[in-house]
Amino acid sequence: MDSPQNTLKLKPAVGWPDGCTPSIPYGRQIISEADIAAVTEVLRSDWLTQGPAVPAFEKAVTDRCGARFGVAVNSATSALHLACLALEVGPGDLVWTVPNTFVASANCALYCGADVDFVDIDADTFCMSADALSAKLAHHRLLGKPLPKVVIPVHFAGQSCDVATISKLGIEYGFRVIEDASHAIGATYQGNPVGNCRYSDITVFSFHPVKIITTGEGGIALTNNAQLNRRMQRLRSHGITRDPTEILQPSAPAWHYEQQELGFNYRMTDIQAALGLSQLQRLDGYVERRRELAASYDEAIYRLGLTSQRVPTWTESAYHLYVIHVPSQQRDSVLSGLSGCGIQATLHYPPVHLQPYYRHLGYAAGDFPIAEHHGQHALSLPLHPGLGIDEQYYVINTLVELLANKSTNPET
Ligand SMILES: *Cc1c(COP(=O)(O)O)cnc(C)c1O
Repeated sequence: MDSPQNTLKLKPAVGWPDGCTPSIPYGRQIISEADIAAVTEVLRSDWLTQGPAVPAFEKAVTDRCGARFGVAVNSATSALHLACLALEVGPGDLVWTVPNTFVASANCALYCGADVDFVDIDADTFCMSADALSAKLAHHRLLGKPLPKVVIPVHFAGQSCDVATISKLGIEYGFRVIEDASHAIGATYQGNPVGNCRYSDITVFSFHPVKIITTGEGGIALTNNAQLNRRMQRLRSHGITRDPTEILQPSAPAWHYEQQELGFNYRMTDIQAALGLSQLQRLDGYVERRRELAASYDEAIYRLGLTSQRVPTWTESAYHLYVIHVPSQQRDSVLSGLSGCGIQATLHYPPVHLQPYYRHLGYAAGDFPIAEHHGQHALSLPLHPGLGIDEQYYVINTLVELLANKSTNPET
């Protein structure tokens, strides 16, 4: 059999000393001495929270991404919740997202009392299919079924969805757009930074340690709309305002504050923001390194005759993840085989609509076939800027060996 493996030219497998299993996570943070110094400076200062570091971080992110406003919060999940609330999502409303995402992209709508539905993904980009969205909207309009108030496309693995097309559909069908760009700080769309909100109302980034840059836990909601910005700022801190232009009580003294709606404590600390500011200075280098590692994977995957996520010409990915498809009958054994060799590969994502909680809401297998097919074939290889070239060769060689292992693949 002339298998593509035979033409594979890789360095010999890297030997790890006996009794020592390598430990290669699928993603992890890098903490520099500069990060530690930045955090220490806050710890020695007067402000651990609600001080100057949070607005400085917000300004740095908005400058980097070309958005007008940024509201830093304690997680991307909180940012998605605030984004939905700011867009007035509530009981009786409908929010659409994709099944191929982390559960938070859908949960945020349920927090608001709204209903969630899903749009299937594109078979090659693994992101929301604009065609599937368009068809579903037309179908719902034709049958007089409810249309979404908000659509949340997810920039899966760090590459942008076709947000211009999604935004155009938003104008036609009257929905608003929240970009869940948790994976995609540092990516571009049509040559401009993801996060500029040109085609959306709000864009959300995550700063969880596996993402591109980190604040420990943290997230931010970016927008160009001053009202949405104010609304999210208020909701981040209990619904309280101290802004004299918003205070309702006439001739209120300077210390007066008012709770004007029901908000939360979703604030980011200055400790987190200082870490984020320091990390942000290395964003370009991190993304560059991720792209180099992805290019090496691309070559190996091509030679192996496997498929990886297609990156359309409209976007440059930040490569939060490197996702490939392997034959479904081998996928689970390859995942556990990698794990046995100290390589933490994983699945992004088990389809959200098939989670037990969502099945209780009425979803079932077969509802979103492309996302389900992806969920049966996908595998994320380790990718983070600290991944060494030798480690990457080890990952690729181990993958080659596991895929060639006929005992895991009775059909060939
Ligand atoms: C990580 C992630 C989130 C949630 O981010 P947190 O900061 O951990 O709350 C939301 N959506 C997607 C697509 C994610 O990957």
